[in-house]
Amino acid sequence: MNSLPEEVRIRVLGIYSALGFAAISTFGLFHIIDGNNPRLGYLQLVIALVIALNFVGLRITKNLRLALAGFLLALLVMLMVVFLNGGINNKGVFWFFFFPIIAFFLTGRLQGLLWTIGLFLATISATIYMHTQSTALYYSFSDIGQLLTILFFVTAGIYVYEQVRERLQSKEHESRQDFLEEKVKADAILANIDEGVVTTDNEGKVMTINKPALAMLGWTKKEMIGKSFISLVPSIDKRGDPIKPKDRILSKVLEEPELSIASSNSLFQRRDGSTFPVAVLTRSMLVDGRVVGAIGTFRDITKESEIDHAKSEFVTLASHQLRTPISAISWATELLLHGDAGELTDNQRESIEQIYASNQRSADTVEAMLIVSTIEMGSRLPVRPEAVQLKPFIHVLLRAKMKQLLGTKKIDVREQYASDVPALQLDIGLAKTIIQNVLSNAIKYTPSGGKVTVDVSLNDKKLTPGSEGSVQIIVTDTGYGIPESEKDRIYEKMFRGSNIRTKDTDGIGLGLYIVRHILEQVGGEMSFVSQQNTGSTFTIYLPLEGMRPNTGMSQDKK
Ligand code: ADP
Repeated sequence: MNSLPEEVRIRVLGIYSALGFAAISTFGLFHIIDGNNPRLGYLQLVIALVIALNFVGLRITKNLRLALAGFLLALLVMLMVVFLNGGINNKGVFWFFFFPIIAFFLTGRLQGLLWTIGLFLATISATIYMHTQSTALYYSFSDIGQLLTILFFVTAGIYVYEQVRERLQSKEHESRQDFLEEKVKADAILANIDEGVVTTDNEGKVMTINKPALAMLGWTKKEMIGKSFISLVPSIDKRGDPIKPKDRILSKVLEEPELSIASSNSLFQRRDGSTFPVAVLTRSMLVDGRVVGAIGTFRDITKESEIDHAKSEFVTLASHQLRTPISAISWATELLLHGDAGELTDNQRESIEQIYASNQRSADTVEAMLIVSTIEMGSRLPVRPEAVQLKPFIHVLLRAKMKQLLGTKKIDVREQYASDVPALQLDIGLAKTIIQNVLSNAIKYTPSGGKVTVDVSLNDKKLTPGSEGSVQIIVTDTGYGIPESEKDRIYEKMFRGSNIRTKDTDGIGLGLYIVRHILEQVGGEMSFVSQQNTGSTFTIYLPLEGMRPNTGMSQDKK
């Protein structure tokens, strides 16, 4: 009761006063009309009047404490009057049990207890007084003893109930306070974080979003809450192509329960249509193993992107510059090996062959760097397709790689070409890069005594809708294979398998990264199966329609 606002307490006291007035005056009238105990009846009417006046006093003085005391005192007096007069058929003491209930409810645990103790003392004093005055009591001592005992239990019960209720109430209050404090802290953290933070429900609809996120995206909070994040904020990949909703990392963490966290670098589109580069990290929120939503953080990486871009530009420039001396060395050593500068001794030939092989490796590395920097800048590689007969093309590449890589190693190399494979429209440089990388990996990662086979044939696989099918180039080896746990990393930039790092120290882990990017751009595909210490099979699919041409103009939309 004490926790209730004052106006509610006044209203409750008003209702109690009305009930008290009605009950006491009715009994008073009974006693008067009955003629049995008119004295008691008049006294009750007076008390009922006091209760009514007490409430009127409260409306005037607004002193609630005084009015509560007045009301309870009037009830106490009424009970004593009934006690001393017996009430109807000596049953007036039934009213005693109302008192603790009303006192506790109106004044709270401690005051309620004091008022009830007051009733005890008043009853005992009245009994003793009557006894000493030798006035006849309406109740026997045993009745009074029983009355006080039951009253004690009722009071104790209410007291304990009140105590527990207060404790629960204060706990609830505390946890509410804690919750509010946590909320204030969380709001402060979210507001002061420089990164954009968004939480969504399991349908990807925005539940909360912080100020930096809104500032970056140009939307207002009201416009975003409850809306699909993916629809409001389109994402664009590095090459400038829109990322499909199903490929967005938010969709992935929401739809694939086993994928709890994902990151990406892409461009976000602002409300006004402009874009900015972002690094995004999205994590699913799980309750009992069920995805209930996601939390995403993102930051504007314009500066980092500019630095990366500058770095890639530098690598492109340096690689271009290195190409010229490398070609000159290649050209000069070839002349020397052809005997254009006179006959060579065996020693001279061996040294020049070594120079030629090392120079060739440098050429491969520089080419790889050039392609990687082009990919990193988000630019498309130039693709100029021309008709290529795969059989002679692959055969020459394979022999060159064998010459360069086999050394003293003995590997049984077989080639098989289906006769119905037509000439394909391919960019010679890119086709060379793709096939060379896969062939050299098979040779490099197969120990002496092993076997490498190249099999070229037609396949029904349609790489694009409406395609006629594809040509598959399957390169199988009986080499070291790829460890199971590393299979999903082999297309990563600079990744090298833990099982081959000590066996082949020349690789730089760029080959498959490049091959995959080229295939993605020209409309091809690749796949592999591998078992450690047994071997690997890499399959490259090229569309029968040939590579998708591209003039090599930069598509970079940054
Ligand atoms: P590199 O050959 O320069 O290390 P790649 O990108 O061509 O780089 O290959 C990445 C990694 O994939 C290799 O380091 C190797 O661990 C693994 N790999 C590729 N091809 C094979 C293969 N045929 N057999 C075994 N491992 C392979």
